Amino acid sequence: MKIKFTGTGDGRGIPAVGCKCQRCSTTRKNGGKNHRRTVSVIITNKSDTILFDTPSSIGQVLNEEKIFHLSAIFLSHKHFDHVGGITVFEYWPEKIYVYGNMSVLGNFEITDRLYNNCEFHVLHEKESVKINHIRVKPFSVSHKVPTFGMIFQEDDKKIIHFSDKAENKLDDYEKRLLKNADVTIFHTPGFDGGTDHIDVVSVMDIAKRNPSTRFVITHIGHNNLSHEELVKKLKPYENIIVAYDGLTLQV
Ligand SMILES: [Zn+2]
Ligand SMILES: [Zn+2]
Ligand SMILES: [Zn+2]
Repeated sequence: MKIKFTGTGDGRGIPAVGCKCQRCSTTRKNGGKNHRRTVSVIITNKSDTILFDTPSSIGQVLNEEKIFHLSAIFLSHKHFDHVGGITVFEYWPEKIYVYGNMSVLGNFEITDRLYNNCEFHVLHEKESVKINHIRVKPFSVSHKVPTFGMIFQEDDKKIIHFSDKAENKLDDYEKRLLKNADVTIFHTPGFDGGTDHIDVVSVMDIAKRNPSTRFVITHIGHNNLSHEELVKKLKPYENIIVAYDGLTLQV
């Protein structure tokens, strides 16, 4: 599988709209890896293309990536920074297969056109679905609303995506998950506390305990360190990658 980080910012992205802070101002001027769209990833293999989350930036992502076919869309939860772009699929030229929990599928207002263009599939905790060769298994992560992280697996390769996990600690199930993961992704808007998500410092601790797993941090906010500062801080941790828009990993 290949995973591409098509958006790596938190709910506001960087530069955040209306924000004149140092980070947003510099990023507006210079662009580069500090420029972060709202969060999404695209997972592909030889035959399939799977989109995980549809933030407001997703239309632009699909155009830039020149993607004209999607095998499925998976949604983590109903927060707007993860689903706010779903309406671009009103005009998608083929049927869209959308997977998520009841909270996300049942609650956002679906226009008639979108509704007719989508086939909705309710996901249940730890019940896998198969998109041809890729098995996708949802698991609950602690967050303000019902939220699924996803395990994407092809053969013995596993990507574990914790979406908006709140707690800094892992429970026993999550600890076991990491043991045979190839890539594990955490959403870290902040560096050391200050948000209701897991922070970078906690991921450093987890990475130290799981040296054979590659970790990626994404969903990074404007109050976090800059991309360059994060890379420098994480240099001693060879198994943590700081995501940026466009980062692609082969798994
Ligand atoms: Zn979020
Ligand atoms: Zn800002
Ligand atoms: Zn959220």
